[in-house]
This record gives sequence, structure tokens and C-alpha cells, in this order.
Amino acid sequence: MKRGVCPGTFDPITSGHLDIIERAAGLLDELIVGVALSPDKGGGPLFGIEDRVAFVEGATTHLSNVSVRPFDTLLVDFAERESATAIIKGLRAMTDFEREFQMAALNWRLDSKVETMFIMAIPEYMYLSSSAVKEIARHGGSVRGLVPQHVAAALERTFGAR
Ligand code: ADP
Repeated sequence: MKRGVCPGTFDPITSGHLDIIERAAGLLDELIVGVALSPDKGGGPLFGIEDRVAFVEGATTHLSNVSVRPFDTLLVDFAERESATAIIKGLRAMTDFEREFQMAALNWRLDSKVETMFIMAIPEYMYLSSSAVKEIARHGGSVRGLVPQHVAAALERTFGAR
């Protein structure tokens, strides 16, 4: 049984995240999407942990081997608790590389039994990030296609519809 965890803040989940989750789910028997509490990231997340988990759940109902759980521990401890042997991360432009390389090296140092694996973003989503999506929505731009529909609706409710 090959089980992996796919961690992130998912504030909110984007089409880029979802693409990585779908492709990872196709490679593994089970994938657990770990939604990090991340209270300090970028001045604090826009959406609370329950909303962020619900957004991922709503986007992954078509994937029977995917489940979603919040976590607030070291990633390797979360992986161990979920009996996962792989950490799956998406990799976008070069800017992701250094940070991800550092985290993979430190996680290996903390627990070498858990393997970090990277899936390349597809060109269409290479420059898509949660922060860019929030910036667009905050200024009244359309985020349709960049995030799942229910997330676009939540962003419109949060920032006011266009
Ligand atoms: P962000 O980096 O946008 O704040 P997260 O912390 O939620 O998002 O990221 C979780 C994981 O998803 C990271 O491995 C990140 O590289 C990956 N990821 C984020 N956006 C994309 C994308 N557009 N395509 C592929 N992977 C992505």
C-alpha cells in the first residue's frame, strides 16, 4: 500500500494545487492532503482552517483515494502519523526550487524513511499561486479557472463580487 501526504497551506486551493493532487492520486494507492494551520504564514491565512479543509474536500470529491486532514505539527510527524512513506510537493518556477530543496533536505535529516517527491507544475499553472489569486480577487479581478468554482464563489463573497 503506497500512501503519500501532500502538504500545503491551501489558502485557498488553486487549480495548480488540484492538478498536483490529481496526478499524485494517480500514482499512489492513497493520498492524504494535509492542510497546515500556518498561523504565521504571510501575516496569517485569509481563510480559517475549517474553510481551507472544506475547499480542498469540495475540490476532490471525484478522487476516491484522496482524504483531507488539517495538521499543526512537523510535516514528518504528520506523515508518520498517517503511515505515509512519501511527501508529494508541486514545483513551479525556479523560485520554488531553493526553498523546496532546503525543506526536503531538512525533512530527510529529521526522518530519512519519508521520501520527498516533486511533481512539476504544468506550464499553464507554473505562475499560479494562492497569493496571486487573492491579490486578483482583492482588486475585483476574475479568478474563474484559476481556482475551483466553489472557491471562486467564496473569494467573490469575501472581497465583493465584480
Ligand atoms: P503557496 O506556495 O501558493 O502559498 P502552498 O503552501 O499551499 O501554496 O503550497 C503547497 C504546495 O503546492 C507547494 O509544494 C507548492 O509548490 C505547490 N503549488 C502551489 N501552487 C502550485 C501550482 N500552481 N502548480 C503546482 N504546484 C503548486
